[in-house]
Amino acid sequence: MQLVDSHCHLDAAEFDADREQVIARARAAGVRRQVVPATAAAGWPKLREVCRAEPGLHPAYGLHPTFLAEHRPGHLTELEAWIVRERPPAIGECGLDFFVEGLDQVAQAHYFDGQLQLAREHGLPVVVHARRAVDAVIAAIRRAGNGSRLSGVVHSFSGSPEQARQLWQLGFMVGLGGPLTYERAQRLRRLAADMPLEFLLLETDAPDQPDADIRGQRNEPARLRRVLDVVAELRG
Ligand SMILES: [Zn+2]
Repeated sequence: MQLVDSHCHLDAAEFDADREQVIARARAAGVRRQVVPATAAAGWPKLREVCRAEPGLHPAYGLHPTFLAEHRPGHLTELEAWIVRERPPAIGECGLDFFVEGLDQVAQAHYFDGQLQLAREHGLPVVVHARRAVDAVIAAIRRAGNGSRLSGVVHSFSGSPEQARQLWQLGFMVGLGGPLTYERAQRLRRLAADMPLEFLLLETDAPDQPDADIRGQRNEPARLRRVLDVVAELRG
């Protein structure tokens, strides 16, 4: 089994004490690689160090919408310099969050549009966060694509099947993880059961979004196996 955790915050402080063991458990569970998306510019150097320390860790640099208070207009310029110098496999985590109160939606759109622009110019996929904002994300991708095709993933997808289809048509995948292991997540479980596999990426979003078996605990990339098992069960 060779798995990729497409979304894992391995650089988070929650893993500072035992990061090597966490990675070893992931490898033992068949998780060979992890995409590790950034949250804010101040964290990029640590993210780079964490990913350099072990093979199979791939950093994505970006400006996460819920960390809006830490972003400055100049960070988009800095991000481009990091992209050119570090050649990451993706830009992110970027996107829109209309769930968390007090996050200026205009400012969020400014950073998201700027990162989509960089993705287009540098030919990189984007790792997108969309919380209560899938329609706005789809609209922004359409605008930014402007004829040329963007690609990427809307991670921890929680929208409707119609919204998923629109994303696939735009060249985007959906990322599914711990939330689909909860029986009450009917819509998500139906999507995992029915969707075309070529548009599905597995993720943990560790240390967040623990699956139902470790509810309330720190999530870790080895748990990707549980997500895979549930998807397999749902699809028969
Ligand atoms: Zn994330």
